[in-house]
Amino acid sequence: MGVGSGHPQSDGARMSGKKRGLNSRIVDGGRRKEWTQHVVNPPVYRASTILFDDVAALNAAKPRDGTFYYGRQGTPTTWALADALTGLEPESVGTRLYCSGVAAITVALMTVLRPGDELLMVDSAYQPTRMFCDTVLKRMGVSTRYYDPLAGAGIEALIGESTRAIFLESPGSLTFEIQDVPGICAVARERGLVTLLDNTWATPMFFEAIRAGVDLSILACTKYVVGHSDVMLGSVTANAQWWPRLEQTSRAFGQCASPDDAYLAARGLRTLGVRLRQHEQNALEVARWLERQPQVARVLHPAFPDCPGHEYWKRDFRGSSGLFSFVLKGGTNEDRARLIDSLEQFGIGYSWGGFESLALPVDLDQLRTATRVETEGPLVRLHIGLEDPEDLIEDLAQALARYGTGA
Ligand SMILES: *Cc1c(COP(=O)(O)O)cnc(C)c1O
Repeated sequence: MGVGSGHPQSDGARMSGKKRGLNSRIVDGGRRKEWTQHVVNPPVYRASTILFDDVAALNAAKPRDGTFYYGRQGTPTTWALADALTGLEPESVGTRLYCSGVAAITVALMTVLRPGDELLMVDSAYQPTRMFCDTVLKRMGVSTRYYDPLAGAGIEALIGESTRAIFLESPGSLTFEIQDVPGICAVARERGLVTLLDNTWATPMFFEAIRAGVDLSILACTKYVVGHSDVMLGSVTANAQWWPRLEQTSRAFGQCASPDDAYLAARGLRTLGVRLRQHEQNALEVARWLERQPQVARVLHPAFPDCPGHEYWKRDFRGSSGLFSFVLKGGTNEDRARLIDSLEQFGIGYSWGGFESLALPVDLDQLRTATRVETEGPLVRLHIGLEDPEDLIEDLAQALARYGTGA
């Protein structure tokens, strides 16, 4: 059987034959003797051509994950990472890798949609996800209806004749509303709709999407799986119902991931357990401090009781990661730019999930069509890295002290 169609079968899992904890699966998931031989990490197998012993072997080969066929179908380096990610999502059967998180999102959508369909897309979605819906999907005859991230099971009222799929992202990009994922998935299942979730913020470590009822669980591995700000990679993990169609669609689009990138991602994955817990702890420390500052109107953090949908976070999640936003009390975008420019410990840039702290000015103006988010002032998104939180707080303190004074 190919990698995708079996259950995770790292040597560790095979030996013990019992259900193992998350950290054990993070550490040795996807490691199989036939792929790694005697070394710990799967070697980087670079390949386009795969050589066959004879014509009979060539004719007998099938283009499927986990079997040598052609470079686009991967090599043990990519199979091992995919297998490890499948092992982190209980009740899933396979994972496909892509050259970026956005590629994973777009192929997942193309897997489930047909011309004439309507897609329900969460209004707090990552901006490039919206862009794909409003351009390519629109051209393909798929219409998108944006819905309130807090709709919950009430989403049923939006389901029409042509509604085919519901896309979720929880928490939402930039504003961090938590969705009632199990509630929405239950409605979707009853009405025969497919569900897709962008699970990048939580990763399967903090939220097990497939077990919660999601059909296709998407990760921008670029963020926490890679964890070191040096690789672009995406993944989609599917349940039994959707795996064959996902595999077929990904193959048809010629989607594949580089073995070098897969190697680095697998290497990052091994420490996800400790990294994410430390990101969580540091972020909570900084967020709690920020909340008490007079220049800060609000902190948008899923673990805070006033975060919209916090009750779902509390019910469904095992933890919180290092990414959150805060709203400044008044001030202009120029004031905000000065604030961010005066930070010394925080970098300025896109992406997140690496070991270092980042600050980003974010604006919601063009990003909402179904709902409005009122803010008391400009918004700043922070990714809290693995530095000493006291240093991050000291840095924010000196920058905030000058906020709005034009100094
Ligand atoms: C970054 C991000 C993506 C896209 O991932 P890339 O690898 O940058 O293409 C998708 N979803 C969310 C929530 C993200 O933060």
